[in-house]
Amino acid sequence: MEVSDTHILPIKMSTTFAKGNVNAFILPGSPVTLVDAGTHLPGSIQQLREGMAEVGFTFQDVEQIVVTHMHTDHYGGVSAILQETDAVVYVHRQAMGMLEHGKEGFERDEEFMRRFIEECGAAELLKRQRKFYPLHWKEVRYLEEGDVLTAGGREWKVLYTPGHSQSDICLWDVDSGDTIVGDFLLQEISSNAFITPPDKREERRPRPLMQMRESFRHVYELPLSTIYPGHGDPFTDFRALIDQRLQEQEDRCDKIVLLLAQGPRTVYELTRELFPWLQENGMFLGLSEVQGHLDLLLERSRVQVERRDSVAWYQAVQER
Ligand SMILES: [Zn+2]
Repeated sequence: MEVSDTHILPIKMSTTFAKGNVNAFILPGSPVTLVDAGTHLPGSIQQLREGMAEVGFTFQDVEQIVVTHMHTDHYGGVSAILQETDAVVYVHRQAMGMLEHGKEGFERDEEFMRRFIEECGAAELLKRQRKFYPLHWKEVRYLEEGDVLTAGGREWKVLYTPGHSQSDICLWDVDSGDTIVGDFLLQEISSNAFITPPDKREERRPRPLMQMRESFRHVYELPLSTIYPGHGDPFTDFRALIDQRLQEQEDRCDKIVLLLAQGPRTVYELTRELFPWLQENGMFLGLSEVQGHLDLLLERSRVQVERRDSVAWYQAVQER
């Protein structure tokens, strides 16, 4: 089969996450490029293998892999592919900590997360013990905002769009407007802004919701056309989607202020009031979401925070 250079070939794989399927994309043409790789689970690797075979490619054909962000449903399959090819892996520079700092860095990050959960007033959730899995990717090259990457016979401009994670990038084909966005813009669900530990050089954690809003501003005026997301089908009207997400954030901010007008609350208490359906294993997403909005409300001086012992209590600032 003769495959046109201009194609972006989607491959869907299942995950165990609430988001359901995750997409990878084959960019045929030189160099043959795989964008994202699903989870590490054998079933997912098999789906990737079969999906690629359907469009005429094997793992051995892959010359380079681009990871849109360092979440396991996007990079988990990379190691399995690298057993069959010497493909170069491209990822944003922010992933360097995770790829190169090893167990020590992992433990420092885990300690930060434990303190964050405690600060949320959610110490009862601190049962989880995550295990460290080192990633042995042979050749990694780091990308930054403005870099140009040749992939699948086209030139793609790298846009750095942190918020959902610290390593989110989009690949923008300036000529056609086609843009592969990872989880930065999703139609079916609003993309969570995950609380993450500070970078090694920093003292304070990033404020992910604020970063996401900045990333929205960064792309808003760009002439992007078809958007290829990490979950769900391609779509076009990305500005309407951004407008909708920004409005949802305003509504959520107002809800939080209303709750805080009734008295001081912890992040955990707010999370359970706003998302009563969340089970324990999804609670971290809720805590992240609420903390992100509180960061924004603090910035706008609509709330204030007071720390008692290791717990942060938020209250509404009385309007004069
Ligand atoms: Zn994802």
